[in-house]
Amino acid sequence: MGLSLAFLRYSPFYKKLDSYNAGQSLAKMMGRRGFELIWKPLFLAKFGKYSKEVSLAWFWARIKKRTTSLAYPEGGFLEFAKKLKEVSEKKGAIFNFNSEVIEIKSNYLKIKISNKIRGEKFDKIISTTPTQVFLRSVSSLSRSYQENLKSLKSLAATNLLLRLKKPFLSDGTYWLNVCEPKSKLMAVVEHTNFIDKKFYNNEALVYVGHYVAHDHPYLKMTKDQLLKEFHPYLAKLNKNYQKNLIGAELLKDLFAQPVMTTGYLNKIPSFKTSIPNVYLANMNQVYPWDRGVNYAMELGQKIAKEVIKDD
Ligand SMILES: Cc1cc2nc3c(=O)[nH]c(=O)nc-3n(C[C@H](O)[C@H](O)[C@H](O)COP(=O)(O)OP(=O)(O)OC[C@H]3O[C@@H](n4cnc5c(N)ncnc54)[C@H](O)[C@@H]3O)c2cc1C
Repeated sequence: MGLSLAFLRYSPFYKKLDSYNAGQSLAKMMGRRGFELIWKPLFLAKFGKYSKEVSLAWFWARIKKRTTSLAYPEGGFLEFAKKLKEVSEKKGAIFNFNSEVIEIKSNYLKIKISNKIRGEKFDKIISTTPTQVFLRSVSSLSRSYQENLKSLKSLAATNLLLRLKKPFLSDGTYWLNVCEPKSKLMAVVEHTNFIDKKFYNNEALVYVGHYVAHDHPYLKMTKDQLLKEFHPYLAKLNKNYQKNLIGAELLKDLFAQPVMTTGYLNKIPSFKTSIPNVYLANMNQVYPWDRGVNYAMELGQKIAKEVIKDD
């Protein structure tokens, strides 16, 4: 298994891997037993019903970029976003929060702000919403561009955040992938085993995360229902955690994880859509890399250059 992973890590030829299926190739490279024991449960947890469709190039990218050197903005990503806003405003940017774009046409947006709808004209429009949201807001895409976008698959995510008086994974573990097929847990991530709890009112913060299909019952459940669902499995990891529980929050994201299927290179949508002056920039375009804030930032730079070039 080590040799197969080393081969992938040092191979620069990801394009050649694009047409290979990750699961089938890994089972051949590292042996079925090793694959079934370690990687298959991880593929299932990450991609659910699509786990057999993932491209080997996506897996290559995960191995290539694996590092123990992680970074996190002090105060969280919200503080980071606030800083970006401040800097951008000084350069003339205008932010409209709590505004939903409901229709995109060439040079024109229809925006909904607290039940009021208004239209506004722009020189260029860059949509950075998930592909499925973009598709809902446009009606005049060419058939080929639209069909390609429609064929892209994605998964939702639920994240149950537990606030505790004491650490949950008391051995200091930051990220625990649960590969036990009978467990209802997927990933248990103790954020405050990575970032000091002094930034969070001295509370221990634990994410209980799941990737799920868009019709999965978890997406309709409340935080209390999910906590009840996961309780027996959480108690196996820390039998006293309930005594320390201060509260829980539930976050849901409908289009959290794009699925990079075999042959995805030919499916990457172009920045330029078929509608004049309308561009698309989202996590479907960072392949072979997996979605992530780094890639979102890089994408921002790329799309800005593309738009300027077209002027
Ligand atoms: C549980 C979880 C944990 C993660 N942890 C990490 C991590 O630790 N590190 C990391 O690098 N990445 C992490 N990621 C991935 C990271 O969050 C994403 O890859 C990144 O946010 C993608 O950036 P984006 O700008 O493309 O999309 P998003 O951040 O999703 O931004 C899209 C924006 O569009 C807005 N929007 C949607 N529809 C409309 C509409 N109709 N009108 C107007 N606005 C709209 C949304 O409100 C949202 O603000 C995590 C993802 C999840 C789900």
